[in-house]
Parts: sequence; C-alpha cells; structure tokens
Amino acid sequence: MARFDKQVGIITGAASGIGKEIALRYAADGGTPVIADLNLDAARATAEEIKGKGGDAFAVAMNVIDEDAVTGGVDEVMNKYGRIDLLVSNAGIQIVHPLVDFPYADWKKLLSIHLDGAFLTTKACLKHMYAAKSGAIVYMGSVHSKEASRLKAPYVTAKHGLVGLCKVVAKEGAEFHVRANVVCPGFVRTPLVDKQIPEQARELHISEEQVIKTIMLNDTVDGEFTTTDDVADCVLFFAGAKTNALTGQSIVVSHGWFMQ
Ligand code: NAD
Repeated sequence: MARFDKQVGIITGAASGIGKEIALRYAADGGTPVIADLNLDAARATAEEIKGKGGDAFAVAMNVIDEDAVTGGVDEVMNKYGRIDLLVSNAGIQIVHPLVDFPYADWKKLLSIHLDGAFLTTKACLKHMYAAKSGAIVYMGSVHSKEASRLKAPYVTAKHGLVGLCKVVAKEGAEFHVRANVVCPGFVRTPLVDKQIPEQARELHISEEQVIKTIMLNDTVDGEFTTTDDVADCVLFFAGAKTNALTGQSIVVSHGWFMQ
C-alpha cells in the first residue's frame, strides 16, 4: 500500500515551486493533495498535471491571510473528502531591502503572509484534526529560521517565528495525536529565488553570478542549490512519521550551508 493511501493533505502555495513538488510527490505516494493557492488557474493546472499522471488532486482558491477564504477552503475540503491528514503551510513571498529603507507596508505584508497565513490555516485545520484525533502539520521554514542574511529583515523574523508556532502546536496538539514540524531549506531555484537574484545584485552592487556564488551557495558543501525534491523528501518524512518522537523539531535541508 502507498504511504499516504486515502489521505488528504492541504498544501498552501502549491501552484508553484516547492509546494508544487510536495503535491506531486504526495500524490505519487497515494495521497490526495489539495492545491490551495492565491493563483487558482495555476492551482488547477497543477491539479490537472497530477490527474494526468493517474493521481487525485483538488484545486482550491485560497488567500492564506483572508480568514473567510481559509475557513471556506478548509470546509470545501471537508465536504468533499471528510478528512484532513496533513497541512503543509508553505505559501510565502520574499521582499528584499536594507532594514533602514524597508517600507512598513512591505514589512507587514511579508509577516502577514508567512505568519498570519500559518496561524489561520493551522487554526482551521486543527479543529478537524483534533476531532479525528490525528494529523500532521509541516511549516515551510528556511535556513532563515536559524540564521540571518542582510536585506531580509521580515523574512528572517517570520521564519524564526514559525519555529515558535510549531512548538506550541506540538505541545497543544499532542493529546489529539497531532504532530508539528518545520522544514528549513537553503536556496532552491524557484520563481521566489529567481526574482531576488537581480534584486540582490542591485542592492549589493554585485553581479547576478556573484549573488549566486558568494551569497546563495558559498557556504554549501558542494556549491549546489537545494532542490524541490530534497525539500519534498523531508516534508513527506515528517508527514509519514508514525509517532510523536520528532514532534516540535525542525530540520535544515541546505547542502551543508547551515549545520545545527
Ligand atoms: P514560489 O514563488 O515558487 O511559490 C509560492 C506560491 O505561494 C505561489 O504559487 C503563490 O501564488 C503562493 N502564494 C503567495 N502568496 C499567497 C497567499 N497569500 N495565499 C496563498 N498562496 C500564496 O515560491 P517557493 O520558493 O516555492 O516558496 C515556497 C515556500 O518555501 C515559501 O514559504 C518560501 O519562503 C519557502 N522557502 C523557499 C526557499 C527558496 O529558496 N525558494 C528557501 C527556503 C524557504
């Protein structure tokens, strides 16, 4: 039997990048991923891609910072499937500026998508997981959950914050057999990273190649980007854990950039 047979997992931001890979891999292992994304057309395209490969998937329009959209989307999933086994809180954005120039609106927008989004989706899913006395939540952290970089004040702040939220969910969820973990990737070539390469080059007055070599990959052991596959491996490992042994833990997946 496949590892996630008959299980249903909501993955936010799964229309692109890391979330999309997690959805593809979850479906390949027997699960039904719910592609919950701001971009409904892209979410539907991902769901169709999965169905084209013989899996099941469901696309839901969800802005993770809109409480009604989150509870509405989660209700839609419950009405259709009657269960939520997994939440991967993955939707996120990046905005880079030196702290001294960081627009307050951008600070609030970034914190909101990463932290309010994680809070609202967790709250909506926990209700159903508690009733079922079973569930797993995986937060998409970052090496920036452990480490800082220049130009990324709200991102580093938010990603550190997710580690705290995870630990609370691990404690409160334990009696309901709900586990929580954080996966913390290094740089992964997705649209989120492709956008910041020229932005960082501009802010730091260096070339795009230098951004990749000296900022993004300098401290890895092999000069390689972390892949979406590397990240999906870790997420699905936590999603499939059989006991509470690892609840509350975070894992860094960064080709040796950050070792804890
Ligand atoms: P991406 O830009 O490829 O995908 C992000 C997805 O999130 C998009 O489909 C977008 O539509 C969706 N999204 C954005 N705002 C949303 C909202 N308000 N509600 C619902 N969906 C929304 O980015 P990615 O690189 O795959 O990033 C996914 C997660 O991984 C983020 O949390 C990011 O911080 C984290 N991460 C990325 C890297 C990296 O190097 N790419 C490294 C560490 C952590």
